[in-house]
Amino acid sequence: MQNYVLSDKTWCELEGEIERVIIPIGSIEQHGPHLPLITDSLLVERISKKVAEITDSILIPTIYFGISEEHMNFKGTLTLTPDSFKGVVLDICTSLRRHGFKKQHIINYHGGNKKYLIGLIPEIKKQGIEVSLHRVLGRIGKFDHAGEVETSLMLYLYPENVRRDKIKKFKYRIPRGENWRTIDYSRSGVIGDAINASADKGERYFKKIVNEIAEEIKNG
Ligand SMILES: [Zn+2]
Repeated sequence: MQNYVLSDKTWCELEGEIERVIIPIGSIEQHGPHLPLITDSLLVERISKKVAEITDSILIPTIYFGISEEHMNFKGTLTLTPDSFKGVVLDICTSLRRHGFKKQHIINYHGGNKKYLIGLIPEIKKQGIEVSLHRVLGRIGKFDHAGEVETSLMLYLYPENVRRDKIKKFKYRIPRGENWRTIDYSRSGVIGDAINASADKGERYFKKIVNEIAEEIKNG
């Protein structure tokens, strides 16, 4: 199988390469007692890799850091300020454009990044880039943070990273409105029913997410 990962190639191997590129964006933030802080970044990396294969695109390394202020009450969460975040994304898009990658597809995993990315799109377009933004978790239909959806994806893709003995029926409420903090809705940091997770569900979710994003990119 062809290797689509930009950073694995030499610069010579990129000469005359495909002009379409996938930019995965995750986060480093708490995911309850049973999933690692890197969950969003691991998942978006695997989703993006598969999408790159299907759509014949180049994949760049995941932007691991996002905007995770809402989880900062939980140790280990690392957040960028909006200006830093937007600066990093814009600089990467501009670098890619300078090397001829005119069609850029951002796959954003973490909801906290979304509004900043939407605000950044016109600035990216000003660089002469055809850019599109694709979401991940919203496709499964329920609010989920380390709940049934994310835990299932992790059980399917990275089972060795799931602390199964820590999964239980966590107490939570669904956040409402803007600028909420996770701690006000869940003491564990989990929002969703991790106890209902399974690797089989994770496989179904993964395939649905990958196929939908790949279709959007092919039709875009
Ligand atoms: Zn997550």
